[in-house]
Amino acid sequence: MPLWSSSIMQILIATSNPHKLDEIRAVIHDPTVEFVSLDVLPEKIDEPAEDQDTFEGNAVLKARYYAKASGMLCLADDSGLEVDALNGEPGIRSARYSNTDGPRAERDAANSLALLKNLGDTPIDKRTARFVCAMALVDGRQDSDEPLATVRGTLEGRILTIEEADDSARPEHGRGSNGFGYDPIVFVPDLNKTVAQLTADEKNGISHRGDAVRKMWPHIKPFTA
Ligand code: IMP
Repeated sequence: MPLWSSSIMQILIATSNPHKLDEIRAVIHDPTVEFVSLDVLPEKIDEPAEDQDTFEGNAVLKARYYAKASGMLCLADDSGLEVDALNGEPGIRSARYSNTDGPRAERDAANSLALLKNLGDTPIDKRTARFVCAMALVDGRQDSDEPLATVRGTLEGRILTIEEADDSARPEHGRGSNGFGYDPIVFVPDLNKTVAQLTADEKNGISHRGDAVRKMWPHIKPFTA
């Protein structure tokens, strides 16, 4: 093993979503830290039931679960979209809002379509929404599973109308092809683009996940060389 590798801190990112991992890696550029995915674990671990009623609760639950299973410093996130006109829905149910199974891309499209249908013809000024990302850090190398930190990041926007989507016959396609999830139907007024029309750098600069990682960094930094 090369000498330099001993000074690199590995942090387990508790997600099976490769987009989330890429976004976190893109925000923190520190040669002493390596963000690794669940793929590094010798055995596949069943996902825990995300049964808490807040983003923070689920982030802590996942961080504790994977820290214990791996014995590593573990960073978990729970994220989703809150739509004001739907009383904060889909919220913690964002990933499974449409109750659709199948590949991620199909679930994402079905979730967006369900959201657009439920919002119906709600006027533009009432279509406000925000992405939320809660992150929790738990150290699986210690006896205590108390979170070392829990933070929240947000990104404000609004949901496109069906007419604003490029193809009104399939509004779930929204605008843009970058990112994942609800990105194509979440419009950021200041930039006059949907999140899916932003480059990766642009998204990371303003996103809920970027915001949360930057807030978490001071809690990770002390562990680095
Ligand atoms: P989680 O994997 O349990 O955190 O669920 C997150 C769900 O919220 C995803 O499946 C997406 O539907 C949505 N979501 C979270 N972050 C984003 C994002 O950055 N863009 C688009 N959708 C997101």
